[in-house]
Amino acid sequence: MRPGLTWFYELRLLLLAIIAGTGLGWLAGSPLGGFAATVSGALLVWVWQVRKINRWLDSPETTPPESFGIWGVILDNIYLLQRRNREAQNRLASALDYLQDSLASMRDAALIIDKRSAIAWCNESARSLLGVQFPEDRGQPILNLLRMPEFHAYLDSEDYQYPLQVLPPQEGGVCLEFEVSRFGDGDRLILVRDVTDRIRLEEMRQDFVANVSHELRTPLTVIKGHIQMAIDNPTMGPDHLQRSLAQVDAQTARMENLLTDLLWLSRIESMEHERKTEWVAVDKLLETLVAELRPGFQDREIELEIRTGYAVMGDVKQLHSAVSNLIINALKYSPAESPVIIRGFIEEQGYVIEVQDNGPGIEAGHLPRLTERFYRVDKSRSQATGGTGLGLAIVKHVANAHNAELRIQSEVGVGSVFALVFQPELVRGDSTETLQ
Ligand code: ADP
Repeated sequence: MRPGLTWFYELRLLLLAIIAGTGLGWLAGSPLGGFAATVSGALLVWVWQVRKINRWLDSPETTPPESFGIWGVILDNIYLLQRRNREAQNRLASALDYLQDSLASMRDAALIIDKRSAIAWCNESARSLLGVQFPEDRGQPILNLLRMPEFHAYLDSEDYQYPLQVLPPQEGGVCLEFEVSRFGDGDRLILVRDVTDRIRLEEMRQDFVANVSHELRTPLTVIKGHIQMAIDNPTMGPDHLQRSLAQVDAQTARMENLLTDLLWLSRIESMEHERKTEWVAVDKLLETLVAELRPGFQDREIELEIRTGYAVMGDVKQLHSAVSNLIINALKYSPAESPVIIRGFIEEQGYVIEVQDNGPGIEAGHLPRLTERFYRVDKSRSQATGGTGLGLAIVKHVANAHNAELRIQSEVGVGSVFALVFQPELVRGDSTETLQ
């Protein structure tokens, strides 16, 4: 029933009771007594109803007492409000559970701190990333646990518009990014992620741009110098001019090689995850390569020792480029009188294509960085031989694209062996012998 109507009925009932009570009092000779008795009775009923409601409100989880009239409506409304409130609380609690569950399974560390910056909750990743444990560290001030001055200043500043990056104090440490958002009554949610890889990639990108610019600037400067000289000396003799033009030609070729290698490298990278479907016959590949290289290195001894009849699953153009880079390096970096040996054989790990030289060898400290773009052990020597500094980076990417391993063994004063090791499942033997 609508509250207005209930009031109307309640008032009507009261008035009727008063009229009836006063009438009965009048019949009994005391209308005022009848009136007073009716009002007192009504008041007593009201007080009794209020008492019932009050007792029920003390333990609201019990069912509400039976009531009538306006009191019944009041009780029903309180009960309804209570039920809605409980439902809203349940919804909020399950939303919070859901939120905590999702934060708990995140790879990023998530922490909730209260307005005094004390830890209220944190997920499992906070333990591995920050060493904060839950529930052990509940109530601990976060600033006591994370001893990073930059983070302290950031948290105190209360300006969380941009995330904060904290670089590790020493090389090899972890770089962290903090993001803070406010909610509730001064509570804050802190998300912390490990951005070491992202920062390293960004550094690599910047280094790469700087390196390419540097590699291009050197030949450009030489070319510009020769052109300027020709402009400044209109009477320059034909011999001198020829020598200048030969230099310009050599530097242009160097720039062209660099751009070709860069484009090729980026193409291999983009195809790295493409499935290979072609069987490449190793003996044919190596024989072709030696035949192609021999005219350029006529005075060099190139030996080929190969277990014939094997093929690897791969991309013939990429394999050709990788092995050719290894052979050219072996020839470039070893004395003219020493031989370069190319082998193809089977071992436990798979099929191996290796190139061995008796060059100067490479110090162990350089080996981990050798396949980085533009990394050179001896810069002047490498530039004198016309290398782009991308050869081994290409080999490494070709190896990755073929699930193969690039193995480098080198001893200073003895020589180097660069090998590509192909997994047995990607190798096919001849009709009489297979690896699988
Ligand atoms: P580059 O164009 O300079 O040869 P690479 O990526 O092919 O570039 O090789 C990187 C560096 O590794 C070379 O500059 C050289 O210092 C070293 N290196 C590569 N192969 C050999 C080798 N067979 N013997 C000695 N040093 C080598």
